[in-house]
Amino acid sequence: MIKLTNVSKRYPSGNLALDNVSLDIDKGEFVFIVGSSGAGKSTLMRLLLREETPTSGRVIVNGRNVGEMKRRDIPYFRRTLGVVFQDFRLIPTMNVYDNVAFALRATNVSNKDIRQRVPYILNLVGLQGKARSMPEQISGGEQQRVALARALVNNPDLILADEPTGNIDPELSYEIVELLTEINKVGTTIVMVTHEHELVAQFDHRIIQIEKGRLVADTGKIGGHNGR
Ligand code: ADP
Ligand code: ADP
Repeated sequence: MIKLTNVSKRYPSGNLALDNVSLDIDKGEFVFIVGSSGAGKSTLMRLLLREETPTSGRVIVNGRNVGEMKRRDIPYFRRTLGVVFQDFRLIPTMNVYDNVAFALRATNVSNKDIRQRVPYILNLVGLQGKARSMPEQISGGEQQRVALARALVNNPDLILADEPTGNIDPELSYEIVELLTEINKVGTTIVMVTHEHELVAQFDHRIIQIEKGRLVADTGKIGGHNGR
């Protein structure tokens, strides 16, 4: 599902953010990417999303060589991924229902399917009663569940979550990872960046540690629920 081969990323400023990283993530795995601030975690995420290109090496996501992808193919590629950010990135002027439906309206899903799919997904993340609420009227944990619902609604094969629990309380953080774990059990590959070691320790997922741009530890393909 994800394959990095000798990937390095040097920013124009000269910072070597990733230094010869190779890694392999199979379909169906749940992987935590951990490391100190400045380790290169966000850079790795930006390479997977094609927000950046590698200085050298090859990045394959879902069978696509994302570093060499044509510009016009990028929006389509990104729609095959579910992405969750630390700051939720909800549309403040839209209610919960519309924030989730919006992601589907951008595709050619019929209105009939949208009316079935959105309540189903809101129910899945435990927000069935909040459809008419505006983002500012719900808690941080609930806002992140809306963001998760939005990431899930297109049925992605892969969810990329960059510090999704960075702005929410520890108990709610646990719930978010539990929810991601449930989603993983039905076959979705999950890659989650976090620096919260206590949270990571509560789950039996693969852990890849990056420090100073290098891969320094990998617990291997344990605990993942790979649907093979
Ligand atoms: P992390 O997400 O683990 O905190 P980052 O990937 O954000 O790490 O950063 C890795 C290194 O690259 C750091 O030294 C950081 O300062 C540097 N860096 C990140 N983004 C940029 C950028 N846009 N331009 C220059 N240097 C950057
Ligand atoms: P995160 O906590 O997600 O790693 P950072 O605080 O490292 O985010 O970075 C926030 C933003 O600043 C990012 O868009 C990153 O590209 C940029 N950035 C980080 N470090 C540098 C740097 N040394 N020079 C230029 N831009 C940077």
